[in-house]
Amino acid sequence: MARTALPGRLSARLEWRVATLADYVDETATARTLLLDVPGWPGHLPGQHVDVRLTDEDGYSTQRSYSLAAPADGERVELTIQRVADGEVSPYLAGDFAVGDPVELRGPVGGWFVWHPSRTVPVLLVAGGSGIVPLMAMVRARRQARSRAPFRLIYSVRTPMDLIYASELRRSARDDGGLDITTVYTRATPEAWPRAPGRLAGSDLEAYGWPPQFEPTCYVCGPTGFVEHVATSLVNLGHDPRRIRTERFGPTGG
Ligand SMILES: Cc1cc2nc3c(=O)[nH]c(=O)nc-3n(C[C@H](O)[C@H](O)[C@H](O)COP(=O)(O)OP(=O)(O)OC[C@H]3O[C@@H](n4cnc5c(N)ncnc54)[C@H](O)[C@@H]3O)c2cc1C
Repeated sequence: MARTALPGRLSARLEWRVATLADYVDETATARTLLLDVPGWPGHLPGQHVDVRLTDEDGYSTQRSYSLAAPADGERVELTIQRVADGEVSPYLAGDFAVGDPVELRGPVGGWFVWHPSRTVPVLLVAGGSGIVPLMAMVRARRQARSRAPFRLIYSVRTPMDLIYASELRRSARDDGGLDITTVYTRATPEAWPRAPGRLAGSDLEAYGWPPQFEPTCYVCGPTGFVEHVATSLVNLGHDPRRIRTERFGPTGG
């Protein structure tokens, strides 16, 4: 049977490429940002992700998805990996994977959970834990494009020690005009924090998000339960489900 030719851009995305770890940054005790060099990388939009494939000497292979943490920058790609204690892949990528080591990578993947820097409508970003990664790519792309789109970020983490990108977010909150950032702690807060620790509630979304009348595009990312809870709360507050875009960081192993 004759094979159907794939359009060039699609086949470029499906192609596995060999990336090399150029450097890394430890963000927290359990999260590490990997700076990868990917020859021939076709570029990407903030919000997209990649598939990463690992293969051992016996030929056993497994793959996981990871969000792109920064806007496109030539052949450099940035991922932030949160170690899952009993995980198969994340403890290696955020642990023994060393500078100069190769890894296979494919993408970019995803066309819905993306933000175009040319867009001007208000944006609400809601992150749970490592769900901050693709939303940080949007915050960074906004800054890079000198966009004036009004942004609000609500970031839910367990404790102050779990904050990924903590110092950059502090700087962004101070310097990026039109960006408001609220951190919600679920288990322990910094001293004298105005909000008691607890799960992100509809009242938090109401207080720190945009009113539905502003018709913001909402991007929600994190563990599956968190995403479903936030998306339902946003709908209950009156947000149009068509303006709520979600990304679930559930298990992706295969
Ligand atoms: C589109 C997409 C983008 C993603 N982007 C990122 C990212 O930017 N950074 C990142 O760190 N992760 C991201 N993930 C999650 C990632 O793909 C893996 O699921 C995660 O790294 C765990 O893989 P593992 O092999 O270490 O654990 P596994 O061996 O797959 O799982 C071990 C155990 O942990 C549970 N588990 C699996 N995944 C998670 C999770 N995310 N949180 C809590 N428990 C889990 C499993 O149910 C299992 O019990 C993304 C997932 C998707 C679908």
